[in-house]
Amino acid sequence: MTRRRIDGSVLRLVCGACQTATVDFIFRGDVDYATEGLVSFTSVERDELVLAELPAGLDDASVERFLAELSARLGRDDLRYLRPDYRDNRLTYQCPQCGARELRPGRELSTAAYRRSGGVVTRV
Ligand SMILES: [Zn+2]
Repeated sequence: MTRRRIDGSVLRLVCGACQTATVDFIFRGDVDYATEGLVSFTSVERDELVLAELPAGLDDASVERFLAELSARLGRDDLRYLRPDYRDNRLTYQCPQCGARELRPGRELSTAAYRRSGGVVTRV
């Protein structure tokens, strides 16, 4: 399987309830299918994003199941999926630390800038 080129940027988020900072990856493509099936997972232990591609046939609803399998395969339990939730035309995410729907988007930066600031981007 050839690896797709991944384009996008890193979005920093802060929880309004517990103040924990986290990150998410914003996939970008010039066509819709360029980002289809791509998911990012966030570590709750370190400043790290794990980018993965859903196996063919798995849809967005299956992401948590895929994450459980991936975590077992990698021997990790620190990865979380920030599922976007549109409510009242507002984009929110649930905080991976405290569970509050209070994650607020902050600065968006390039993958290179994120790495320079000490962040890790892992492709699996
Ligand atoms: Zn929180």
